[in-house]
Amino acid sequence: MKVGIIGLGAMGLGMARRLAQAGFLAGAYNRTAAKMAEFNVPHYNQPEALAADMDVILVCVSADNDVLEMIEAIASTIKPNTIVIDTSTVSSETATIAAACLAKKHAAFLDAPVSGGVEGAKNGTLSMMVGGDAAVLETVRPVLHTMTARITHIGDTGSGQATKAINQIMCAGINQAVTEALAVAQAQNLPMNKVIDVIAGGAAGNWFLDHRGVTMMQGEFATGFKLALHHKDLKIAQAMAAQVGVATPLTDMTITDYQQLMTDGYGDEDISALYRLKVS
Ligand code: NAP
Repeated sequence: MKVGIIGLGAMGLGMARRLAQAGFLAGAYNRTAAKMAEFNVPHYNQPEALAADMDVILVCVSADNDVLEMIEAIASTIKPNTIVIDTSTVSSETATIAAACLAKKHAAFLDAPVSGGVEGAKNGTLSMMVGGDAAVLETVRPVLHTMTARITHIGDTGSGQATKAINQIMCAGINQAVTEALAVAQAQNLPMNKVIDVIAGGAAGNWFLDHRGVTMMQGEFATGFKLALHHKDLKIAQAMAAQVGVATPLTDMTITDYQQLMTDGYGDEDISALYRLKVS
C-alpha cells in the first residue's frame, strides 16, 4: 500500500515520521518544499503528481479552504479506489464536499481528525475520530495504527469532524480553567511547580496541565497548537451548536479572547498563550 502525505506542519511532520518508520511512506508533498528534506521518499512539487502515484493519501493542512484546495487538486489525477484520509480539523460540511468530489472519481474519503497534540503525532499516540465507510477504515487501519493509540469509527462522513468540534469545545473550557486557576495561584505567590505537580495527580489533572502548565509559567508559548487554529475550530463549533440551538458561552468567550490575542500578534503561539490575558 503506497501512502503519500500532503502537509508537513506541526502535526503532519510527526505523522509522516511515524509512517516512514513503519515503511508505509511512499511520497510527500508540502507547499514549503524544504520541510520534505528529511524524508527519503519522492518529493512531489504538486499534489496532483503525488495523487497519481498513491493508493492512500493522508492530508493534514490548516483550514477548510486549504483542504478543499488540496482535494480539488488531487481529484484531477487520483486513481479509482484510492483512499483519502483528511486528518485536518475542518467542518463536517467540508468533509461532505470533499467526499462528494472524490466519489466522482471513484475514490473514497474518510474524515479522520485527531486529538493529542504534536506530542501525540510524534509518539504515535493520537486519538482519531473517523467518519465515512467503516469497511474503508478497516482497509487503512494498519496505516493509521502507526500514528494512533485509539481509532474510533463514529458514523457517516462528517461525523468525525463533528466529534472533533466537541473535543475543541472541551479544550477551550480546559484552557480557560487552567490558565485562570494558575493565574490565581501565581498571584498568591504559591510554589508553582509544586502546585502543578500535585494538582496533576488529582481530580483536576488533565493533558493540558501536564503538557503546558510548566512552560506557561516560564512564559514559553512556542508553537504546539496554534491559537489561530483553535480559533478557527471554535468558530466551526459555534456554528454547529447554533444550528441545534445550544448556547456556548465558554466557546464564545474563548473566541473573543483568542481574537484579542491574534490582534495583539500572538496568533502563532500555542493556545496556552491565553495565560497572557489572565495575568495582564
Ligand atoms: P501548521 O503547523 O500550521 O501546518 C499547516 C500545514 O498545512 C503546513 O504543512 C502548511 O504548508 C500546510 N498548508 C496550509 N495551507 C495550505 C494550502 N493552501 N495548500 C497547501 N498546504 C497548505 O498546522 P498543524 O498544527 O500541523 O495543524 C494542521 C491541522 O491539524 C489543522 O487543521 C489543525 O487544526 C489540526 N490539528 C492540530 C493539532 C496541534 O496540536 N497542532 C492537533 C490536532 C489537530 P506550509 O509548510 O507550506 O506552510
